[in-house]
Amino acid sequence: MYQDLGKGIFCIEAMYQRPGLASCYLLQEGDAAVLIDTGTTHTVSTIMQLLEQQGLQPQQVRYVMPTHVHLDHAGGVGELMQRLPEAQLVVHPFGARHMIDPTKLTAGATAVYGEEKFREDFGELKAVPEQRVIEAQDGYTLDLNGRQLVCLDTPGHARHHYCVYDEHSNGFFTGDTFGISYREFDNHNGQYIFAPSTPVQFDPDTWHKTIDRLMDYKPQQMYLAHYGRINDIPDMAEKLHRCLDAYVQLSKSVTKDNRYEQLLSGLKDIYLEQLRQHDCNLPVDRQEELLGLDLDINAQGIEVWLQRQEQASD
Ligand SMILES: [Zn+2]
Repeated sequence: MYQDLGKGIFCIEAMYQRPGLASCYLLQEGDAAVLIDTGTTHTVSTIMQLLEQQGLQPQQVRYVMPTHVHLDHAGGVGELMQRLPEAQLVVHPFGARHMIDPTKLTAGATAVYGEEKFREDFGELKAVPEQRVIEAQDGYTLDLNGRQLVCLDTPGHARHHYCVYDEHSNGFFTGDTFGISYREFDNHNGQYIFAPSTPVQFDPDTWHKTIDRLMDYKPQQMYLAHYGRINDIPDMAEKLHRCLDAYVQLSKSVTKDNRYEQLLSGLKDIYLEQLRQHDCNLPVDRQEELLGLDLDINAQGIEVWLQRQEQASD
């Protein structure tokens, strides 16, 4: 249910939708630990088991750090904070109010998924007392027994997104900002990666700049929420830039009628072509199965981005 990546870093299977889709991380330094992303309420028991296995008491977890408030990353925050009595919640300033009062997040997600599916996927979102919340401004730095963790404001996927730089491993915990790379696609060519253009704050121009900013640190690895650790970072960054370009190109080719359907089929073409270039030898129906949920969400996100531009120019 988790993988020891060395340097005190553990990748935890979040059990969201299917194994291998979403993960979160425990970072341990001596007698203290932080959690970066939380998965959903259903991930909490796995996290508590890992703490026990590592000989960590719940009160030794100092910080809970959801990279952003999308629910596969922050859905478990409220429940987890109740189980970790000494932890403070480190959240982007734009996400903080949704953790203190999750009513809007619950309503938004229930509207998208329906009540039953929402409960099944995410459980119940619980509020976090305001006095336990730290709003992490750009550059906010934590010290975990001498190990520095730096929070960088990283808009592009979402405006309420930050990434965590860990100097000790020369790596970033990137949430969704450095793309999605499922391990099922790993082959002799390395890793396959694409950008999640999730609703409602996808912004390709900003995202390009954010990727460049992360690359300024010359990171050797990235710890992705979807899924696990990747390397070959310069190559991955280039692929993400080209993926964003392909989305923008696609958005210019669609007409207003049935726009979602056109985006969906256009995205499918983009991914299948990327996978062909990656020399992926999985059957096409398996490729589509692995990307099915992302196809839908990314098409929706590009559509919302287009609508936002139209409203701005009205
Ligand atoms: Zn997200």
